Amino acid sequence: MAVRGLVCRECGRRFAAEPIFVCEQCFGPLEVEYDLDGLDAQALLERIAAGPPSIWRYQDLLPASRVPEWDLAPGCTPLVRAHRLGEALGLRNLYLKNDTRNPTWSFKDRVVAVAVAAVKQFGFSVLSCASTGNLANAVAAHAAKAGLRAVVFIPKGIERAKVVTTSVYRPTVVEVEGTYDDVNRLCLEIGDEHRWAIANVNLRPYYSEGAKTLAFEVAEQLGWRAPDRVIVPVASGNMFVKIHRGFEEFQRLGVIPRHQVRMTAAQAEGCAPVATAYKDNADKVVPVRPRTIAKSLAIGAPADGRYVLDLARRTGGAVESVSDDETVEAIRLLAETEGLFTEPAGGVTVGALRKLAGAGVIGPDEVTVAYITGIGLKALEAVEQVVERVVTIKPTLASFEERVLALAGD
Ligand SMILES: *Cc1c(COP(=O)(O)O)cnc(C)c1O
Ligand SMILES: [Zn+2]
Repeated sequence: MAVRGLVCRECGRRFAAEPIFVCEQCFGPLEVEYDLDGLDAQALLERIAAGPPSIWRYQDLLPASRVPEWDLAPGCTPLVRAHRLGEALGLRNLYLKNDTRNPTWSFKDRVVAVAVAAVKQFGFSVLSCASTGNLANAVAAHAAKAGLRAVVFIPKGIERAKVVTTSVYRPTVVEVEGTYDDVNRLCLEIGDEHRWAIANVNLRPYYSEGAKTLAFEVAEQLGWRAPDRVIVPVASGNMFVKIHRGFEEFQRLGVIPRHQVRMTAAQAEGCAPVATAYKDNADKVVPVRPRTIAKSLAIGAPADGRYVLDLARRTGGAVESVSDDETVEAIRLLAETEGLFTEPAGGVTVGALRKLAGAGVIGPDEVTVAYITGIGLKALEAVEQVVERVVTIKPTLASFEERVLALAGD
């Protein structure tokens, strides 16, 4: 990696690589800029192939100078061909990026690992975040491994398992009486007043880069090419924007051939500010107050919402939203066809995929990758009321024959 500095996404003004995140000229978001001049595609390919089986194999395109010694090795999650789900939806070239297979079972390990590298580089001792659950989980685990103090902020009412799987690493967990957007605003104020590293606030330019690895891995796993389409769940919109950036960077560097990836976004109806703007043909994303079972996507004022909208339009993608019922149904469809149990964010993704395939927006032969970003075990609440009851029998053949045989369809 060769970080040149930070650059404003809006006005292009440059800044030194510091823990800052907004342009002082236009208030646009800052992003890491690399010095990629003279980077040879073949040499890069060889370094990637020789790299570790984690996000750090793409270190040339991440803001970290070496593989950190406190590494939890996130990334390199399976890309699986989804024959049975594809058949159910009428899609012949469907793949699932199973990002539930990460150290804390969501895609957040990718971004947090990169944030921790920045924490060490800038010499912070406290790592914090504003989270809907999965980010807190990842921050707590990675901070434990790196020997940092963690203080995580969550809104009231997130899933129980997300609190437990976070607390076990011994961070300070702070529950704020408000929505995620209230938590985020509080963290902005804390970052202004105290020298704390806040992963998704003042370290956002670094943190957000980790999501590019979701594109790098897919391109590598498809045999060094981009898919025709991706479908991505959207909360703040960071993952969506950086997946697009990842494919762009690989193409600009000549690592993969030029190919337009149709960027397709999925939101929950109860928190769909981007989908609403898309359907209304509006340019402005109007914040909403979230009300959805997809708590990891419950961000009413998405920081990157406008960029998601623009990318979906520019690339020939789409933005679709699904109800809570459709989300639960999609969780079950994914489980039953592919043996993969996702949290509601994945249900929103598969639900949106189903709608778009049904409406003919996604063609049957498009090479489509659906990102499944979090595991179902952390959100049992979403399905525990609807799954079939267990069949109880006596330990006798008669009881078995009476109660089970018919059910087994034998
Ligand atoms: C955070 C999260 C997302 C969305 O991420 P953004 O980058 O904020 O859009 C999607 N899925 C899961 C499971 C998440 O935890
Ligand atoms: Zn600017």
